Amino acid sequence: MTNFNESVWVTTAVKKEQFPESDAIEIVLSGRSNVGKSSCINAICEKKAMAYVGKRPGKTRYLNFFKVNDQLWLVDVPGYGFAQRSQTELKSYGILMEDYFNTRKQCKACLLVIDSRHGLTADDQDMLDYILEKNYPYRIVATKCDKLTYSKKLAIKKELEGLYGADCVILFSALSKEGRVDLQKWCASQIDVTR
Ligand code: GDP
Repeated sequence: MTNFNESVWVTTAVKKEQFPESDAIEIVLSGRSNVGKSSCINAICEKKAMAYVGKRPGKTRYLNFFKVNDQLWLVDVPGYGFAQRSQTELKSYGILMEDYFNTRKQCKACLLVIDSRHGLTADDQDMLDYILEKNYPYRIVATKCDKLTYSKKLAIKKELEGLYGADCVILFSALSKEGRVDLQKWCASQIDVTR
């Protein structure tokens, strides 16, 4: 039994030397800036503000590590698609992401967080292609679904499942908590699946 509400923030890293030591598997959450990743982590972990929920896009430029328990951690990577970044920032962002995905053996599965109102953007598609290429177990988390009608929710689920297979998507809302239990179950299941 995984008690998500016992989760704690471990550390923030701006470079790979700062990645913490751990024997746990990591599930990484990626998505566009401001898509709702922090809110999603807070909801999975049943916390109000463990992951900082920002008001401004692009402010989260670091990796944040959250420990659920000794076997499972969640990792929030910087959001992509933030136009106002300088070339220097974009470069260091690229290096940080490559360092994480290429060297972090603990990284075993991914959650691609997208805005359910917009579907997959070009950036999301690139990220998903990368996830598929790396063969990570994954789920697409279609967040902010509280803003959609029932029929729109069904439509996006059907569209994504048509492209990527049944169960590839979890409709989610940090507001209504729709999808939270499914997401928690999937995360917990990765402990056994990926070991
Ligand atoms: P991040 O930059 O991807 O970590 O995004 P945040 O979690 O900071 O959320 C960005 C904004 O979207 C905030 O104003 C949140 O309150 C809002 N938000 C996040 N998730 C949801 C959701 O499920 N529903 C609604 N309506 N708003 C959300």
